[in-house]
Amino acid sequence: MGIFWWHIYLYMGNILGQNMKDWKVEKARILALTVEERRKLYTCREEFVKIENVPTWAEQVKSEEEKQVNSEEEKKTVEDDEKNCAENVDVGGEKSCDSVKDDATTPTCDVKTDTESTAVENDPDWIKQLKADFVKDIEEFKLDAKLNLSSKVSVFVGDITKLEIDGIVNAANNSLLGGGGVDGAIHRAAGKLLYLENKTHDGCDDGEAKLSGGYHLPAKYVVSTVGPRGEHPDVLSRCYTSCLTLLLEKSLKNIAFPCISTGVYGYPNTAACNVALRSVRRWLEEEGNHEKIDKVVFCLFLQKDQDIYKKMLPIVFPVGPQPAKL
Ligand code: ADP
Repeated sequence: MGIFWWHIYLYMGNILGQNMKDWKVEKARILALTVEERRKLYTCREEFVKIENVPTWAEQVKSEEEKQVNSEEEKKTVEDDEKNCAENVDVGGEKSCDSVKDDATTPTCDVKTDTESTAVENDPDWIKQLKADFVKDIEEFKLDAKLNLSSKVSVFVGDITKLEIDGIVNAANNSLLGGGGVDGAIHRAAGKLLYLENKTHDGCDDGEAKLSGGYHLPAKYVVSTVGPRGEHPDVLSRCYTSCLTLLLEKSLKNIAFPCISTGVYGYPNTAACNVALRSVRRWLEEEGNHEKIDKVVFCLFLQKDQDIYKKMLPIVFPVGPQPAKL
């Protein structure tokens, strides 16, 4: 090796050595900070969302039900008032309470919560499939259908890089060195040290998971997993359980998942939701795992996933004492 190349080699070695040291030192430093101190480092600045402000699925359903009851009561009051008005028609044929008539035009919300949708014959095929799969799971994995786990899961609609939580899952590629979609967003928000730490992981196989620091993210850790390309339920299921297992190994309490593989990797959204919900439910029931963690958050970025989860969550995580109507 010529003297020139030797210098380049030493220079690069120095930079890499320095960077290697940087991520380790910086990871330890950031993790030791108080939450107030860490907040000064967030790429998203003030736009973070505290995990305690993300309601559980149980809380969300209850508040939607309350809203529905209130709107039904409001509607009934308006109808009663209208009836009274009709009865109060004066001799000239004019109604004596026009203001009430005006109020009656206020739109009311008649939308039924999906917890009530039990009309099996009207179910779309993907709901029928989930119900059938869940019945099989109950038998095969000896699940306790009466165990209410609706306060162990949450839905968060928005950008996963804003969540102030123990861990966010990255739907990464095998290199773990960044890509498009949620992967790109997480790398951009975490900063270069995530890339440098991930380099030391030496890649990740499909269905496996690797843990790194969150650096400039509000999340303390990034759990990178590699989903299947196309519809491979076993691999997708392993993504969820590998991440959850890492969470436990690190004694962490909360984790947020994006809809793994449903973007560029092309997993159909309803089938992916089926696997995600059942895998999490099975894992929570295994060895009392639900007692060891606080919350598993499903982070939904697209409207279509919000619509799907709203219909599928009540089947696998019913709220209240009753098991799901299957
Ligand atoms: P994959 O390669 O595993 O398919 P993608 O990143 O293409 O991963 O998509 C996975 C899911 O992540 C999709 O539902 C996509 O809409 C969602 N997504 C993209 N950006 C974000 C983000 N910033 N926060 C949460 N979810 C996101």
